[in-house]
Amino acid sequence: MARKPLLEFTDKGIYCDQGRFYVDPWKPVDDAIITHAHADHAYWGHKHYLAHHLSREVLLYRLGDIQLQTVAYGETVMKNGVSISLYPAGHVIGSAQIRVEYQGEVWVVSGDYKTEDDGISTSFEPVKCHHFISECTFGMPVYQWKPQAQIFDDVNNWWRNNVNNGVATVIVGYSLGKSQRILQNLDLSIGKVYTHGVIENTNEALRRNGVTLNPTERITIDTSKDEIRKGIVLAPPSSVGTPWMRKFQPYSFGYCSGWMAIRGAKRRRAADRGFVLSDHADWDGLISAIDATGCEKVYLTHGYTASFTRYLNEIGFDAYEVHTLYGDDEALEDTTTQPAPKGEEFNTPFNNNDQDKKGSPFGGYLEGVDS
Ligand SMILES: [Zn+2]
Ligand SMILES: [Zn+2]
Repeated sequence: MARKPLLEFTDKGIYCDQGRFYVDPWKPVDDAIITHAHADHAYWGHKHYLAHHLSREVLLYRLGDIQLQTVAYGETVMKNGVSISLYPAGHVIGSAQIRVEYQGEVWVVSGDYKTEDDGISTSFEPVKCHHFISECTFGMPVYQWKPQAQIFDDVNNWWRNNVNNGVATVIVGYSLGKSQRILQNLDLSIGKVYTHGVIENTNEALRRNGVTLNPTERITIDTSKDEIRKGIVLAPPSSVGTPWMRKFQPYSFGYCSGWMAIRGAKRRRAADRGFVLSDHADWDGLISAIDATGCEKVYLTHGYTASFTRYLNEIGFDAYEVHTLYGDDEALEDTTTQPAPKGEEFNTPFNNNDQDKKGSPFGGYLEGVDS
């Protein structure tokens, strides 16, 4: 009788029957291995969590008092004969790929990943395996990222111009990952960085975890508008269009997301500037990462799963589309009204698989691809 696959796709998530644990499950389970602290991967309600050391404080901040064990990259944990180890995914600070091995068979779950070294998340490391479970959020040829140095030149020039023109600068990126990446690449000779509370809470959690970040100042009702105009405001997607943001008027508003690669995206966000900055691999990054694993089979969990799977099969991979509840962290925070009670805001399944069938998480964003 053929042996059961080491990892299987169940209605609760990716499951290892031999080791009796799940990877990034979306329903409450006893034993969960977490790739990273984004809401669509780290759900509330599991009995036991295992994640990387650098995810610790953010997980505790987002999920409350959970039973959490943390490990370093490369460290091995055994569960019923199955060896589990975490490798850098390069997606956000603390993000990991999960390597699972039993009797010589190796599976790797990518979680979310990007192949460009962003300078703050430990750089992505390809891991050899027989079976690779990969995301493909941006698995379309239209997504080709420019080096981040070039993007941040644009950001800093835009900021400098705004300061010279007496206009406030508001830059939007999601609170875990993107915000810190922006913060570390701003030219602080221009001015100070002011933060929305949701972002500052995440910064504080990371600092408690020993991460060194550039100085920031939390915006309160006492923060002077004149001072803000000389600096830059770092804001989460949920703050777009709110009275909180409107009080910085006059301001120029820039949006950082991979979705900004699509025509119309900036207009739909009512943004003055769209910066194509993503924490996911682009088209070439996905293909090179999958190739580097030397895997026999690859499973695509979220993103353009249908068309990307078809393409991989055409170029000689043995690829399968699987259905999961992983969503798009770049859009997820947009659907979240902050602040919400702890545990609730990060517990809403948000499924945007098969974007090519149903449209992107931003509604009509993909229209630009077809035309
Ligand atoms: Zn993520
Ligand atoms: Zn994700």
